Amino acid sequence: MSAVEDPDHDPSDARPRVHKFGGSSLADAECFRRVAAILRAQREPMQVIVVSAMQGVTDALVALTASNDDPDATLTRLRERQRSLARQLGIEPVLATLEADIARIATRIAQTRATGWTDAARAHVHGRGEWWSALCLAALLRQDGMPCALLDARRVLTVRWDEPGAVVDWSRSQADWDTWRRAETASRVVVTGFIARLADGAPTTLGRNGSDYSAAIFAALAGARELTLWGDTPGVLSADPRLVEEARPLRQLSYSEACELAYFGARVIHPQTMAPAMQRGLPIRVRSSFAAQDAGTRIDAKVDCTLPVKGLSLLAGITLLDVEGTGMLGVPGTAERVFGALHAAGISVSMISQGSSEHSICCAVRAEDAARAQEALLGAFAGEIAAGSIQGIGLRARSAILSAVGEGMAGHPGVAARLLAGIARAHVNVRAIAQGASERSISLAVGADDATRALRAAHAAFLLSDQTLAIGVIGCGQVGRALLEQLRAAQSRLRERHGLDLRIRAIADSRRMWLGGDGTLPADWRARLTQGTALDTAALAAHVQPGHLPHAVIIDCTASEATADAYADWLRAGLHVITPSKRALGGDLARWRTIREAAAQGAAQLRYEASVGAGLPVIQTLRELIDTGDDLVSIEGVLSGTLSWLFNHYDGSTPFSELLHHAHAQGYTEPDPRDDLGGLDVARKLVILAREAGLPLDLAQVHVESLVPAELAALPRAAFMARAQELDAALAVRLERAREHARVLRLMARLDARGAAQVGLVEVEPTHAAAHLRGTDNLVQFRTRRYCDNPLVVQGPGAGPEVTAAGVFADILRLAGQLRRAP
Ligand code: ASP
Ligand code: MG
Repeated sequence: MSAVEDPDHDPSDARPRVHKFGGSSLADAECFRRVAAILRAQREPMQVIVVSAMQGVTDALVALTASNDDPDATLTRLRERQRSLARQLGIEPVLATLEADIARIATRIAQTRATGWTDAARAHVHGRGEWWSALCLAALLRQDGMPCALLDARRVLTVRWDEPGAVVDWSRSQADWDTWRRAETASRVVVTGFIARLADGAPTTLGRNGSDYSAAIFAALAGARELTLWGDTPGVLSADPRLVEEARPLRQLSYSEACELAYFGARVIHPQTMAPAMQRGLPIRVRSSFAAQDAGTRIDAKVDCTLPVKGLSLLAGITLLDVEGTGMLGVPGTAERVFGALHAAGISVSMISQGSSEHSICCAVRAEDAARAQEALLGAFAGEIAAGSIQGIGLRARSAILSAVGEGMAGHPGVAARLLAGIARAHVNVRAIAQGASERSISLAVGADDATRALRAAHAAFLLSDQTLAIGVIGCGQVGRALLEQLRAAQSRLRERHGLDLRIRAIADSRRMWLGGDGTLPADWRARLTQGTALDTAALAAHVQPGHLPHAVIIDCTASEATADAYADWLRAGLHVITPSKRALGGDLARWRTIREAAAQGAAQLRYEASVGAGLPVIQTLRELIDTGDDLVSIEGVLSGTLSWLFNHYDGSTPFSELLHHAHAQGYTEPDPRDDLGGLDVARKLVILAREAGLPLDLAQVHVESLVPAELAALPRAAFMARAQELDAALAVRLERAREHARVLRLMARLDARGAAQVGLVEVEPTHAAAHLRGTDNLVQFRTRRYCDNPLVVQGPGAGPEVTAAGVFADILRLAGQLRRAP
């Protein structure tokens, strides 16, 4: 890692820069060295460095003053940690000072056993971690040839406590800073964060996580030109990364956006930090000391509206209070009274929304305040409640507030619609909605159990392209494998050229599954799948649809009934389904109906172009004929690539069984060729087409002529293959007869408008298109009201893993095309 200079470095500007390092940036000796390297790399004439306690130290100190337990164990641990830090950094001379300080704390704690804790004594102990950090960092910098002064903030920073926290005595603090600074010659100053003094000199702190605020105050006192807050995240993120895997650092935020995000609970920076910076137009940069090569997020006065929403936050632990009744109708000031009553009770309201019917007001408070808030409102509206014009004050516990923040939403129509559409896709019910008059944020109240899902969906709606599609492939037979290779080859091209972001999140065969992360399929995916975990279809589906990606699709490349059974649930859950399999579409009628209903209800789509004619556009063509209002007269054709190949080659010169053996060896047939010869495969395809045309056909209604005589049908596969020549005599007779009529034999499928469906061996005229097929060609002739004299014909290779996979791939692209939203 190289610690690069600040991107906005201007060597001619002599004003100091302020750098604040949080506890995570100062967790151990390695972290301290990293910090020293960062400071050196800045090449700034003047630096003010504000430090937090090492990670975990303040927690330990706070615990010391909060319990009556023997402090020895904690103090020993703290002493050991400081010792080993000093040793590892080679700054042993500071040890004497540190140990004396820890000894003094032990004495103090012992004294409080008699006297009890005072605020000052407590604050003194809480703030020692900052002093130790400052001491060690200053020693390290000096040792590294970077002279610096060391300042205990309590020498200059005077505050008083008021709502909502510490208020700076600016004139006194400024005077004390100026005096101190004049007496110091070093260009670098290391200052303790978090701690301050009261007017009477008693120690105090700025509250937990207060060193951001310290840094902003010292930046103001020092007349700094910029403040950098160094932590362990690469900037302000679009959402909490623990909840949203896709959260990403924002390049820039306005002060107001940062305030709004902080207000709504995003752990951006301490909210009070903003005020001193905003008043002075001081830019704040949020960076990671672990990724100093990244510029991080800049917070300044600039208002950049290119994105309507920049960040999302979630405020948990909320209860909603509903004031409902006709008594509010047209009565001015009801909302003010709600606010007034809650304010008087000292309860802060994080959101309020009033229906324009004025029948109800809903406000959100912290769960721990809910009972008091209810009481306050019952008191304030006692008269109306007694008179019956207000029914009461309802409570809805276990709520959360999701806020979308961005200056760009002002005057940008459709932001709320986009938010609500995203939330609806995630099946989250919205309890209340409010938009600030500033139009800088929209807030939704949702149930606590839905909160994370809502946040992820909102994040996907605003911060990811709606062309982001998570993919899970089940079934790694020939078609599944070909599809995965096609996807892998196309992934980056589709992203770069078409903005289509296909993320392959899971693959599975009949026994195992592999769950991936960022969606790139590793080249060694086959090996990973063999080492994968046992297939758990539900877990796989959940992984494919984690909620933080806008859309998810399961691709079923199995021929399994069990997978087909899952379609309806997936579709209901908003997962799209694409399949080349005929099981679900051409199988049981009741199940097919359930699946269709599930698809029709939800927002999810079911696509199966490759189930008939592999990659040929058969389903699509039929659907468009019907949708544009044409009427079907008949469908006729050769729907099996295998049977097409067999009869295209069967001219009597070679026995039929020999051709069958050859086709089997070449992989043109199903593993058991009787699945082809029996006509069932073709019958299924005919059922799919019939249903597509609006004829709810059942497989049993298709009249199928099997080429496998009964005595061969029940044999084990190997025994059948050994006796395949028993097919030859009967077929030779059929061929002979066809020849006498100057025709050829083809295995044809036929459907008419009344739903009569047949599959069987037919003699066709030499002028018929089926007589001119080659290889594994399929042929589908649609006769309709519009295409009556000449049928609409779809013809071409209709079998094989590559073309079938391409048919599936085309469905993925069609799906993505439909998901594209208007900008
Ligand atoms: N060390 C203090 C705390 O943990 C202050 C800070 O880190 O901002 O709360
Ligand atoms: Mg097709």
